[in-house]
Amino acid sequence: KGRLSGKRAVVTGAGSGIGRASAVLFALEGASVVAVDRVEDAVDETAAMIRANGGTVLSVAADVGDEESVKTFINLSVEKHGGLDVVYANAGISGGLVPLGEQSVEYWLEILRINLIGPFLAIKHASPIMAKQGFGSIVCTASVAGLRANAGGLPYSASKAGVISLVQTSANELYGTGVRVNAVCPGLIETGMTKPIFDNARARGTEGKIGQLNPLKRNGVPEEIANMALFLASDEASYVNGQAFAVDGGLSST
Ligand code: NAD
Repeated sequence: KGRLSGKRAVVTGAGSGIGRASAVLFALEGASVVAVDRVEDAVDETAAMIRANGGTVLSVAADVGDEESVKTFINLSVEKHGGLDVVYANAGISGGLVPLGEQSVEYWLEILRINLIGPFLAIKHASPIMAKQGFGSIVCTASVAGLRANAGGLPYSASKAGVISLVQTSANELYGTGVRVNAVCPGLIETGMTKPIFDNARARGTEGKIGQLNPLKRNGVPEEIANMALFLASDEASYVNGQAFAVDGGLSST
């Protein structure tokens, strides 16, 4: 039993933060999980956590921006777990806050490669497998930074706005296949990515102020994003398609 009982899922960025929390939750809810991260030790640790809970998991070290790697880890779910029902394309990088005049093309391309082309490749290679069976759910991690201008760095925000467009347009492109594509847009969540922001604030004694911008007056935790990803991945969201949902304490409504 479980909300993903019998489902075969791939989760990227599973070595840390939101991806780890989601891989653990998906497995607890009955999914067989292929956990992917470019940091091998980190994703192995996530796999160990899942196994300790009695879950089924394969751990893969791979780069989500590399097409051959994406094909390999998507196909691994079919080969080892017997199919593919869910992909959570979550891996991403922030790139930090670099002043506009110092932003190189290489800096832009690396952020776009991982944050936008990564989810595109997941959709490209997962959707034909899902279309064949007539159903499947692809979830991407965008960000409030893709919904409003002042929540992240320039190429980061642009990449996340791109992810929102990607889920809208690919849901249409996949017309009639039964494959759903949606995004979750997290607000500020303490993870490996945002650790420098929190460390900085702690050093200045302003930690309490970070979460004050949203109406709930606190930061979110990875599990609160994983809960939305779980819903979108599951059959409970069977009529939800082409949407981007903010999970941000209300930040994007302020
Ligand atoms: P995190 O740094 O804790 O985790 C991201 C994981 O992705 C890391 O383990 C990293 O190794 C992996 N990764 C990075 N590039 C990769 C690549 N090319 N191939 C494979 N794996 C790669 O950060 P997080 O906060 O959990 O981030 C998860 C997602 O959530 C990202 O897409 C991020 O942009 C998004 N997000 C985070 C926040 C936040 O406040 N933390 C807010 C909005 C959106």
